[in-house]
Amino acid sequence: MQVIKQGSAIRSIVQALRCSGKSIGFVPTMGALHEGHLQLIRAAALQNDITICSVFVNPAQFNNPDDYKLYPRSLEQDIAALEAVGCHYLFAPTATDMYPEQTLLHFSFGVLEEVMEGAHRPGHFNGVAMVVSKLFHLVQPHKAYFGQKDLQQVAVVRQLVKALSFDLEVVCYPTIREESGLAMSSRNKRLDVQQREHAAQLHQALLLAQKQIGVKSVAAIKTDVQTYLAGVPELQLEYFEIADPATLQPVPDPAAAEVALCIAAHVGPVRLIDNMIVKPQQLA
Ligand code: AMP
Repeated sequence: MQVIKQGSAIRSIVQALRCSGKSIGFVPTMGALHEGHLQLIRAAALQNDITICSVFVNPAQFNNPDDYKLYPRSLEQDIAALEAVGCHYLFAPTATDMYPEQTLLHFSFGVLEEVMEGAHRPGHFNGVAMVVSKLFHLVQPHKAYFGQKDLQQVAVVRQLVKALSFDLEVVCYPTIREESGLAMSSRNKRLDVQQREHAAQLHQALLLAQKQIGVKSVAAIKTDVQTYLAGVPELQLEYFEIADPATLQPVPDPAAAEVALCIAAHVGPVRLIDNMIVKPQQLA
């Protein structure tokens, strides 16, 4: 695997590859790679001639300076993990290479960013859209791979791709979990053993809610989730929503169609998100 630091370098490599007819699969990440990321790399390697991963802790998408400063960084381990799963190129730019000058460009995703992550993390999706746009321009992939773990991000990226006519397919893969049910996340590295156990209750809360879809009202399910998590004082619930998986807007009657159960909470120093999609045939 080649490690490329400069945007101009990855651009010329990709241009040559495209000219020789190679298909390119791309997995953008912020590093501290785990199995959730690696499944995306494996899928890209299977479905394309060339696999490119980026590792860039994007300052523009952090609304909390401590979260940015303390975000786990482990480039040497990431390189070894990527080599083991057959990645061809790692693009790992510096912040000054990605953002040589301040930009005033601003993205808006309408109602999509007025809920959940958009509402609770002001500027987050603007930063995501900025870096994803830049990466798509530099890497020019045929397919770009994302995880369901960040469901609202996938919806934002799909809207971005449509709005700016990026000539690529967005592919989404399911959330990979620890044995405890805790969704894998680079931020989990900042949790101690006990905090990890508390964090796993997020998944339990989603399972509890899943059982009640088609049985109880949205308000009653929300109350049950709040009551359940109130029994875990080390975990502070930020939101729990029942939403349309594509638009992320609240769903009034969750028994009628596929829904996404979305949750965010703080455990110790870390803010975690998770979600579960419930299909109508899974309803009792
Ligand atoms: P990140 O490094 O957190 O920005 O994540 C990079 C990509 O990996 C995003 O598309 C995430 O949604 C995806 N991802 C992160 N964690 C998981 C997971 N546990 N399961 C599946 N995909 C994940």
